[in-house]
Amino acid sequence: MKKAVILFSFLLCGAYVAHAQSPREQWKPESTEWYHPVPAKVTPGNGTSAPSDAIVLFDGKDLSKWESMDGSPAKWTVKDGAMIVAPGAGSIQTKQYFGDCQLHIEFKTPVPGKENTLQMKGNSGIMLQSRYEVQVLDCEDNPTYVNGYVGSIYKQSAPMVNPFTGTDKWQVYDIYWKGPRFGTDGKLEAPAMITVVLNGVVVQNNYVLKGNTPYTGLPKYTAHGRMPLSLQDHGVEVAFRNIWIRDL
Ligand code: MG
Repeated sequence: MKKAVILFSFLLCGAYVAHAQSPREQWKPESTEWYHPVPAKVTPGNGTSAPSDAIVLFDGKDLSKWESMDGSPAKWTVKDGAMIVAPGAGSIQTKQYFGDCQLHIEFKTPVPGKENTLQMKGNSGIMLQSRYEVQVLDCEDNPTYVNGYVGSIYKQSAPMVNPFTGTDKWQVYDIYWKGPRFGTDGKLEAPAMITVVLNGVVVQNNYVLKGNTPYTGLPKYTAHGRMPLSLQDHGVEVAFRNIWIRDL
């Protein structure tokens, strides 16, 4: 009996102390600080060079990191430090596969011929994981549909603004991509999300994708893992340069 009373008193005393001093009040500043793992040192790029931990996909010299969609050598043209769509040669893709990433890519649309208007005016595309297109288009005086503008997630999300600076001028994309997550049963667990910056201006802000980006029909998700990054041949000689990617 005596033991029980002592135990009861002990518990009561503990409860009182816990009540009087909440866990928050017991915390010290260092309770919420950690030291490992230490972030790796990265040397930033300077606008034309890539950060030290980036994978350079095109350095102005050759297409060694790229191939045609059927796995044969990429047939685009390399000229004056740029790689240029060879109309009819087909889209190209990276030999390496990617998931979440930070992508830097610059493009230039050519002076259009008479027939190159609307969606034929400087059209190409940046296909994340081979199926989610960030549109490349000459949007100088182009009255095409806005969810097909430069900076759009093709046919899903129009860009918030149009910071395209003109035909035959280099445009700079910085893209932050979080790919979709699928369960082992192939069902979608989390959709893809993207932030797109064009010429330093945010045009897509954490946009949540509804699926892939087809020309005809509605977007949908089909389970996949890491996939190549691909660039579209839409029949126009769009040039690309300074392409680098960071695996996230
Ligand atoms: Mg396109």
